[in-house]
Amino acid sequence: MLPDKDGPSDLTGGGIQSNSREDPAVSLFREYLRLKTVHPEPDYDAALRFLDRMAVELGLPMQKVEVCPGKVVAIMTWEGTNPSLKSILLNSHTDVVPVYQEHWKYDAFAAVKDGEGNIYGRGTQDMKCVTIQYIEAVRRLQAAGKRFARTIHLMFVPDEEIGGHEGMETFVKHPKFLNLNIGFALDEGLANPAEAFTVFYGERSPWWITVHCPGSPGHGSRFVENTAAEKLRRVINSFLDFREKEKHRLSTTECFTLGDVTTVNMTMVKGGVAYNVIPCEMDVSFDMRIPPTVNLQEFEEQIKRWCKEAGEGITYKFAQKNMNQSTTSTEESDPWWNAFSSACKAMNMTLNKEIFPAATDSRFIRAIGLPAIGFSPMNRTPILLHDHNEYLNEQVFLRGIQVYERLVPALASVPPLPGEV
Ligand SMILES: [Zn+2]
Repeated sequence: MLPDKDGPSDLTGGGIQSNSREDPAVSLFREYLRLKTVHPEPDYDAALRFLDRMAVELGLPMQKVEVCPGKVVAIMTWEGTNPSLKSILLNSHTDVVPVYQEHWKYDAFAAVKDGEGNIYGRGTQDMKCVTIQYIEAVRRLQAAGKRFARTIHLMFVPDEEIGGHEGMETFVKHPKFLNLNIGFALDEGLANPAEAFTVFYGERSPWWITVHCPGSPGHGSRFVENTAAEKLRRVINSFLDFREKEKHRLSTTECFTLGDVTTVNMTMVKGGVAYNVIPCEMDVSFDMRIPPTVNLQEFEEQIKRWCKEAGEGITYKFAQKNMNQSTTSTEESDPWWNAFSSACKAMNMTLNKEIFPAATDSRFIRAIGLPAIGFSPMNRTPILLHDHNEYLNEQVFLRGIQVYERLVPALASVPPLPGEV
């Protein structure tokens, strides 16, 4: 590959494996990892320059859409032989979360590879690996002279890690997104420490709620009735008792993963002015993540009951209340899932189908009615996204390219569906 402009691409450090015979795809991955697309001030320009170069190498047109000021979505397009068919979206985000460098073994932006082939760096799992795997898979398919009926779009979005509001959430409503004529999307998943690969067909709904407890004020030396603190205690008990029940359900139900239960965490408490003053109000906030199997109306009724039972005048308000519970079909009869899962089966891969425990850009894609699967081909890998010492082994990374070399043709060759010509 082309040398890294910021330094030699064999930046390794003492006692670290030399990369003299390193696979060019691994070198490219390590180069991309060194770009500081890290919040709070991601170098988006560096990412765009890198992607420009990739587009030139692949000979693909790349359009850039500034969906919000400073937030550019880049899209490379490999046109199909029948471009009127719905296209395949290979989505990845360019941004990464901050690091606490003092907890890292190596510089989080040096992409150091150790003697076992583990590449350390922010974004190795989330999700710079997938970006390069898409690019390398396309490069190899082109080199083999392949063409497919359906158009393939490689999309690179900014700002997923801070909510995607100025990235995918806005872009899915943009005319240029609609012009892409997408039929099916792939986006990020999570590593799996075992032999299997995890695929995500839905996400939990995040609800952020603040419960406001008013009460009688008074002097701290007295037994004042109907205080804000008493109400607050009952509210907290109801939410946290429910939390315990859900935790128990997760630990005692064999096939359950985090995505199958509701998590509740008390994250903020506000109130009070002085030691000797009983306050007239107190607030408590919770982060809840609710699986698609839960009836959200009934869930809110339950919250109302908890508030009512805790005392008079208690109100609540949402800072976030996601009501979209759309999931992507994983029925064998679904042509997209069938193409995806059959290709995996042909490679002897075991798939674990799960609900994503947190939020990704896939939720915006599913919300407009498009099927999306969250998948990052990393098995035998601990889940280290957002963690210190995030790493990915080069062999797992390279195998992932082969996985996309099979998956992309399968998806881009799904025969015309009813309504398509
Ligand atoms: Zn991510």
